[in-house]
Amino acid sequence: MQLTVTKDMEAFHRALLTSAKEGRRLALVPTMGALHAGHLSLVEHARTLADTVAMTIFVNPKQFGPNEDFAKYPRALENDIKMAEKAGVEIIYAPDAEDIYPEGYSTSVSAGPLSTQLCGKFRPGHFDGVATVVSKLLLRAMPHVAVFGEKDYQQLCIIRRVVEDLDIAVDIVGAPIIREADGLAMSSRNTYLSAGERGVAPRLYDTLVNTGREIIMGNVTTKAAIADAIKLLTALGFKVDYLELRDSDTLEPMDGFEPPARLLAAVWLGKTRLIDNIPLE
Ligand code: AMP
Repeated sequence: MQLTVTKDMEAFHRALLTSAKEGRRLALVPTMGALHAGHLSLVEHARTLADTVAMTIFVNPKQFGPNEDFAKYPRALENDIKMAEKAGVEIIYAPDAEDIYPEGYSTSVSAGPLSTQLCGKFRPGHFDGVATVVSKLLLRAMPHVAVFGEKDYQQLCIIRRVVEDLDIAVDIVGAPIIREADGLAMSSRNTYLSAGERGVAPRLYDTLVNTGREIIMGNVTTKAAIADAIKLLTALGFKVDYLELRDSDTLEPMDGFEPPARLLAAVWLGKTRLIDNIPLE
């Protein structure tokens, strides 16, 4: 299939129809652009699950708080198109905000209790914004499968919940976190980091790994291991929003360690918010 790049919903639908008429299975990879190897790994994974991979590129204003980085969020559409095409994406849909939220738009998908914990506690409204846009994009594309990164683990859990609750007939598939050589989870926001901050940033992953090891070994309580980790991160210059052990499936808080669990963290390094998580099995 020839590459389609469009911001127009009808053109998007025409490309999807061409693919469907050929009997091809469709995978969707929703992104906010400023692509990196993490996004491309989702495409690679999607290609193993479907015949046509479509990507959406949309910096969703509804998931940014009033004092967050919507205006300065990196935008790199030309380069994104090249990277996505090279990775095997055949349809790129990059709508304008006025098309997703035209005048008079007033509906929001409220993602329930999961959306007010962890990151939701620090970013009120964020996950409702995510749930709303992902629902709309899934309904516009109606893919067989949609691939999301475990980098945004809470987001992945919320999207699973939303599609189940709203009867959106799509398989939600999670894909593992892609990291830089020094362990830092790839993120479009890493470009915000100064050289000094970039040097310190991998210590977040190190700390998660070491804390996870301590929790699994069970020589200290989970609570003590986490308190030590927060102390260490703070001493290294991070401001910790949270570092918590949660059930991998339900995201319920966990006092003792009962696999499968996930250790999740959100921290600030200067003006940059970083999130990361690891499985504890
Ligand atoms: P974003 O453009 O940040 O909204 O991310 C789009 C998708 O890429 C989401 O499903 C993210 O979880 C995923 N993603 C972002 N960074 C990574 C990474 N380092 N590894 C794997 N997936 C990622």
